[in-house]
Parts: sequence; C-alpha cells; structure tokens
Amino acid sequence: MVLRRSIYKSLAQLRAMIEPGLITARALAAVRELVAPGVTTLELDAEASRVITSAGAKSNFQMVRGYRHTICTSVNEQVVHGIPGARVLGAGDILSVDAGAEYQGWNGDSAFTVVLPDPSRPEVVAEREELSRVTEGSLWAGIAALASARHLNEVGAAIQDYVDAQGEYGILADYVGHGIGRKMHESPSVFNYRVTDPGPEVRPGLVLAIEPMVVAGDPATLVEDDDWTVSTVDGSAGSHWEHSVAVHDGGIWVLTAPDGGAAGLAAFGIEPQPIG
Ligand code: MG
Ligand code: MG
Repeated sequence: MVLRRSIYKSLAQLRAMIEPGLITARALAAVRELVAPGVTTLELDAEASRVITSAGAKSNFQMVRGYRHTICTSVNEQVVHGIPGARVLGAGDILSVDAGAEYQGWNGDSAFTVVLPDPSRPEVVAEREELSRVTEGSLWAGIAALASARHLNEVGAAIQDYVDAQGEYGILADYVGHGIGRKMHESPSVFNYRVTDPGPEVRPGLVLAIEPMVVAGDPATLVEDDDWTVSTVDGSAGSHWEHSVAVHDGGIWVLTAPDGGAAGLAAFGIEPQPIG
C-alpha cells in the first residue's frame, strides 16, 4: 500500500514551516551581501552553509541525491541548477542563487537574481536588470493570484500573463515549482504558464514553492556536461526568483520573506496575513 500524504497541511504544520523559511531568507540575504566582482560562487556557497548550520538547520540541497552544495549559482546563460565552484563573478554578470534550509524536519526554498554593476556595458546591465525585474514581478503576480485563486493553476496563468505583458521573454517549460513541507519537493507541481487542467483546489494548508524561470531569448534549454546546470541553447541570459508561500485560514503568508511578502504584494493590493 502506498501512503499518500495530503497536500494540505495542518495549522501546526504551517507554523513549523515559519522558521525554516526565515533561515532560508537569512542565508540568501547573507549571500546577496557577498556578491561582488572577484568573488567565487564557492565562497557564496560557504556563506550560505555557515548561516544555515549556525541556525541549527541543514541544507536541504545536500539531501538531493548526487548534489553536494548548499546553494545553486547560475550565471548568465545558466538559468537554474548551476553548481558552485571556482568560477569568479565578473562585472555585468547576472547571477541567480537558489537555497533551502531544513529545520526540525520542515523545509524552506527560495531564490533571487542579482546583476553585478558594469560601467563599461550599461546597456547589457540594463537589459539584465529588466529581465530580473520581469521575473521577480511574475513571481509576485503568481503569489498575488494565489491569494484569491480557486484552483492552483491560476497561479501559472498569472505568471505567464505578467511576463507576456512585459515584452519578448521566454518562460522555461520543463522546470516548475512544487509543494513543500516535510520534503523540499512535494506534490503538486506549480506551473509557470497557463495549462488546461485547473489543478488542485486552493485552500488553507497548501504550501507552495513558486519559482518562475524566465529568459531574455528562446526558452529552449540544455543540461550541461556536469549533469546539473540548465542553460539556454541560444545563450540568452536567464533569471530565477522563488518563494515558499503558505495558504492559511487568514490569507497567504510568504514564508521565505521576512515581511511575509508585504513589500512585493503591495503593488497587487494584497496584504499578507501572519499565520495564526
Ligand atoms: Mg529553489
Ligand atoms: Mg524550488
């Protein structure tokens, strides 16, 4: 017999997911502080590891089979799943960092993108910053949609509508968000685009990692020889933003944002509500 865990969590379980979300947020904030030309992606990995470990938590990325690092670092044409290493960050690079913490058996998962300054290539920097802004905006559009959605796949429709309204961008189709809880990756899948199936009902207890992956060109990707890194075929730049979000009796709360998502959701007229 296969025991299937409900995708809806109890209030006590939602409460248990607050701390791993905040630890994940702190790890990413610490990494963000370190990002500068001349820094290696492995140094960023060490910083995330330090923050997560000192909080009494574990890196849930290290529990993914075959993966040995705390974060993923994806640079320029790499969109997701880049492996930290000796690569030195350079001026004008666009970097996406993805991390997650497991604390007392519960998980957080979040990602951000940043563009390093480059005074010699202002137009490249501006294009990449716009790509990141569009991707982050689509994440908040998806989270905002969750607040009033009846069915999960309204989230992906909102993400796609947001991206399509911004110009010529591509949304990765083969990589999607997911439920999160006892495991980092749980059912259901969270699409970043419109699908015909409405998906499961949105109701209290649903916790999702919403994570649009958007590129400046064609969305076709390949996996590099390291068997992890996902890069665009046409070499165009990629961006990845992610938050873990809980639906509860009082509304929604972004677990991996210290303000619960208040700043990001303000533009959509939605006020996140703390988990009671
Ligand atoms: Mg992630
Ligand atoms: Mg994820």
